[in-house]
Amino acid sequence: MKPFRGSFTQQEPIAEDAIEAAVEVLRSGRLHRYNSVAGETPAAAVLEAAFAAYQGARYCLACASGGYAMAIALRAAGLRPGETVLTNAFTLAPVPGAIAAAGGTPALVEITPDLVVDLDDLAHRFEATGSRFFLLSSMRGHLADMDAVAAVVARFGAVMIEDCAHTMGATWQGRKSGSFGLAGCFSTQTYKHLNAGEGGLLTSDDPEFMARAIILSGSYMLYGRHGAAPEPSVFETIRLETPNMSGRMDNLRAAILVPQLQRLSENIERWNERYRIVASGLAGCEGIVLPKRRDEEGFVGSSIQFLIPNVAPEAARAFVAAAGDLGVDLKWFGADEPVAFTSNHTSWRYMPAQSLPRTDAVLSGLFDMRLPLTFSAADCAEIAAIIRHCHAAVIGGRRR
Ligand SMILES: *Cc1c(COP(=O)(O)O)cnc(C)c1O
Repeated sequence: MKPFRGSFTQQEPIAEDAIEAAVEVLRSGRLHRYNSVAGETPAAAVLEAAFAAYQGARYCLACASGGYAMAIALRAAGLRPGETVLTNAFTLAPVPGAIAAAGGTPALVEITPDLVVDLDDLAHRFEATGSRFFLLSSMRGHLADMDAVAAVVARFGAVMIEDCAHTMGATWQGRKSGSFGLAGCFSTQTYKHLNAGEGGLLTSDDPEFMARAIILSGSYMLYGRHGAAPEPSVFETIRLETPNMSGRMDNLRAAILVPQLQRLSENIERWNERYRIVASGLAGCEGIVLPKRRDEEGFVGSSIQFLIPNVAPEAARAFVAAAGDLGVDLKWFGADEPVAFTSNHTSWRYMPAQSLPRTDAVLSGLFDMRLPLTFSAADCAEIAAIIRHCHAAVIGGRRR
């Protein structure tokens, strides 16, 4: 079989209008978000206003990274040192890391084979821990039944913060991911849906929460220069009671994000075209299971996940190696040792050891692949064919 030659880490170039906006910021020399002249709205503030409007949120804060947005969101929500924060166990290392950064103790909740939080276990862990916080991670863009999640969180009087690193632009029954709890946290790191290299966006409708987050992010007394912030009066006491945890976004990053945001809806369509081609190419392969997507879910197919249930570890490793030999970059969540960006709870040893038998069973057969927009439709069909071929050769699946 002919190997695939494309690069799974190659995103599209930054478009010319964004490059021009970046050059303009560079020429001005005013890269710091508060370094503006009279009558000028700095790019960071423009981005905040634009993203708040996109999200349908009252407030938005641009900051240093998605992980940073989560950490200050937890603090701004009132997390006290040592308090337990629940989060679903299928997530990326920066999520428990953000809980640790905010002084909390992560406690992981089981997931279902559809890669979303297990609501019975969520209720069980709220009861067992008395936690006041749930950081929902819509990992790899899989949305749980958001109304049901919000109902469980409300039943325990807890606060929900959403990690939307892979659900920027995704919806549940037409409502944007990130709008179901107190706050939504987004990333503009290269491998997410907007690309500024690094960066984060935090949204909320709650004025006191957002005032605390803005002061935490390092606004000094310049919070009046934000693009989607609460009224200055809301900051009156908050500005003196809240530490400055310096983690702002600069105008250079913001400048390249504003034009990208205008193309996000179009790009979501393009990701989903690619997703559908790979998904249909795998759908007929016996032994490969695609997680169910509910009709209510409007997802962004910027990556694809599939399960080979009950695959033995040696077979999983051989399958990933065979695909790799043919140029297809698969990640496996069941490995003992973390590899590159991919890890699981067994290697997050700064937190208490977690018992997650159902999650472990899912992760042991879970494979993951990026779908950058630089791939054509033909590339996607070729990739699906290679995966089927490697599955047949290594795992012994038969075509239906
Ligand atoms: C990338 C990612 C993050 C962290 O975003 P950064 O901007 O890199 O800090 C958090 N959660 C998930 C699920 C991610 O994929």
